[in-house]
Amino acid sequence: MKNEYLLKVYNDLLIRNKDEKEFLQAVYEVLSSLEKVIEKDSSYEKLGIIERMVEPDRQIMFRVPWVNDEGKVCVNRGYRIQFNNAIGPYKGGLRFHPSVNLSIIKFLGFEQVFKNSLTTLPMGGAKGGSDFDPKGKSDGEIMRFCQSFMQELQRHIGQFTDVPAGDIGVGAREIGYMFGQYKKIRNEFEGVLTGKGLAYGGSLIRPEATGYGLCYFASESLKVMRNDSFKGKKVVISGSGNVAIYAAYKAIELGASVIAMSDSKGYIYNEKGLNIDYIKEIKEVKRGRIEEYLQFDNNTEYQQGKVWTNIKCDIALPCATQNELELNDIKKLYDNGCFAVYEGANMPLTNDAVDFVIKNKMLYGPGKAANAGGVLTSGLEMTQNSLRMSWTKEEVDTKLEQLMRGIFHNCYETAKKYADEYDIKTGANIASFIKVAEAMKAYGIY
Ligand code: NDP
Repeated sequence: MKNEYLLKVYNDLLIRNKDEKEFLQAVYEVLSSLEKVIEKDSSYEKLGIIERMVEPDRQIMFRVPWVNDEGKVCVNRGYRIQFNNAIGPYKGGLRFHPSVNLSIIKFLGFEQVFKNSLTTLPMGGAKGGSDFDPKGKSDGEIMRFCQSFMQELQRHIGQFTDVPAGDIGVGAREIGYMFGQYKKIRNEFEGVLTGKGLAYGGSLIRPEATGYGLCYFASESLKVMRNDSFKGKKVVISGSGNVAIYAAYKAIELGASVIAMSDSKGYIYNEKGLNIDYIKEIKEVKRGRIEEYLQFDNNTEYQQGKVWTNIKCDIALPCATQNELELNDIKKLYDNGCFAVYEGANMPLTNDAVDFVIKNKMLYGPGKAANAGGVLTSGLEMTQNSLRMSWTKEEVDTKLEQLMRGIFHNCYETAKKYADEYDIKTGANIASFIKVAEAMKAYGIY
């Protein structure tokens, strides 16, 4: 990054937020793409747009006390970072994972501002969560935690203010407990959360949306940039949660075979392809470990560690967590024949790994574009709640597919205009930035 204004903003942020490494990484990734736009239009600097964009509107941190099954009182920390609502009510998921801290929630909130802008729907960016670990907890413990979490969160959210959703560790069960508590405290039945169950205002296709959307984005990229498709391709996926499972189903439906998947302990590999129904059963029903797949199929290998090892593949879909794919991992993938990486997770590649991908002309889908299908369908859930209507599966899926293909084209055309066609990172950052920045300009200084 050479532009003096951008460098100054970044260096000031570095001094004030020096311990927030994920947040700084996400900001650097965006700012380093914006040089050409900033140089073309001096009003961004004059109006302090970048300084205002890197500072959240507000950061909320709170105590979450709850009682475990032994009757002991436990305390976790809750977060909601309302980053920017220039183009719509705050919107973004809640993550329950022991690694959650301020830096991680801020990076996710910052990313969400740009992702939501790309969806074309009116949604601002936010993120929240807790360092609570749902693993190994009983349903009763999860319920008591969620109720306590919502007891505080409810005063900061609302259908026109801030609409949270799920993320790592937060699925339909947790959303149900939180929605129930909101409704009870506020005595209001409104679309304040998305990812709800179908019986109380959820949208069809929302559970599948991030994974499906990832494959729609990828298939448009394969078609436009290589005259190619998923057909006959070998796909490696990290993670085996919500995003990973539905990305796997869609990739297979589009003609690929998914040959490896993982969890935080290790990965499974079968050259002939995995059966995703078994994985769904293990992870969603039994809440078990991916290693248990071997009980269904003893021709599959299990290894501890990262999935990006020595597996020959065509396409990689990182769908677990941030910074899971480092420079050495991407080099290994590239050497093993992988030519495309589409990010289902948020910031799964380190910045030097992204640089390698772009420099080597691998096809690429940055998370803020490629995994936008989840929040996009959450936006469609909000629309259905406002209309007091439910759309069919086909209606939602068709809208999702059209909008994801549109997001690819927006990023691709912007990349060609400001950088080169393989630099979809710059395309995504510039396209999303301009919309938010123009809205901020219209409001004057606030
Ligand atoms: P889930 O909790 O359903 O699944 C997460 C998966 O990632 C699990 O397999 C988990 O393994 C693995 N994982 C989590 N943390 C780590 C870690 N530190 N190291 C290695 N593996 C890890 O989450 P989601 O599928 O919902 O989310 C996955 C990613 O996608 C996240 O980055 C999230 O922000 C992003 N995302 C999610 C959206 C959604 O709609 N759900 C929308 C857009 C982005 P284990 O079970 O062992 O912990």
